[in-house]
Amino acid sequence: IEYGLGHALQRQELMLYYQPKIDMKHGGVSALEALIRWQHPDRGLVPPDQFIPVAEETGHIFAIGEWVLQTACRTVKSMQQEFGYLIPVSVNVSPIQFLRGNLVETVQRVLRQERIPPYLITLEVTENARFKDEIVFMRTLEQLKRLGVCIAIDDFGIGYSNMAYLKNYPIDELKIDKAFVCDLEQSVTNGNILLALINLGKSLHKSVTAEGIENEYQHSFLLHSGCDVGQGYYYSKPLSEEALSAFMLDQQARLAHLDRIPEESGIGLPDQPF
Ligand code: C2E
Ligand code: MG
Ligand code: MG
Repeated sequence: IEYGLGHALQRQELMLYYQPKIDMKHGGVSALEALIRWQHPDRGLVPPDQFIPVAEETGHIFAIGEWVLQTACRTVKSMQQEFGYLIPVSVNVSPIQFLRGNLVETVQRVLRQERIPPYLITLEVTENARFKDEIVFMRTLEQLKRLGVCIAIDDFGIGYSNMAYLKNYPIDELKIDKAFVCDLEQSVTNGNILLALINLGKSLHKSVTAEGIENEYQHSFLLHSGCDVGQGYYYSKPLSEEALSAFMLDQQARLAHLDRIPEESGIGLPDQPF
């Protein structure tokens, strides 16, 4: 993995998949999350958990992180050309990128080069990042906010849960970890934790996203608990760029069809977004 990663970028073996983030109230796609994959010549499609930790150790993460941001920006532009509107994209940023290297300059340079308005980009970082160096974390966050990008705390609820940072840091979105969603049907405790996390986020005026939604029950529970955005296999798996275009086309057609149904016909909007 370590040896191959050195060539993966030049050999164009890395690719981004995109998972739609769904506006829970309206059922439309509100944004995309870019998720990296490695099309390895021998191993097939390698998921990020198997190579991002190596990239972090070897320092390849800096070049990979820049490529991810650049590729995500290009997808924003190609989606605009295809569908006529700008769709926000979230990219995952490793704590190593956050705390070392020149993340702020890289983000600024890539956004300028690609001519992408910063508010369309959300950087997702886990809450553990700040524990490694709280001061650098805070400074980086503030500089990124000044650039105009949005910040999300990923895997919220399973890291170090010192809540004080929520009140001091310029964070736009909390992404509740899928560990609380996955066995919601069996676990009253998970349901209570989800409710508490959603209320915490809402009372601090953050956008709240739940990840790992796989079925109607979980969707319905989260919708009625006031969660803003949902993500998970229930709506869509992460998609290649080609499959994403097909998904968006399908969704456009569906929404156009719903628009045409007169209210008095008695056919209401479906409970399910899809
Ligand atoms: P994450 O950012 O929390 O991403 C969510 C993960 O959950 C993704 O796994 C996604 O495919 C998966 N997922 C989505 N919906 C469902 C569902 O309904 N059920 C279940 N069980 N899983 C679901 P993936 O793509 O394997 O990514 C794993 C992690 O790798 C990500 O977690 C993120 O931390 C990291 N990662 C992905 N892309 C990048 C990247 O470009 N840079 C960095 N630094 N890290 C990345
Ligand atoms: Mg993420
Ligand atoms: Mg996550």
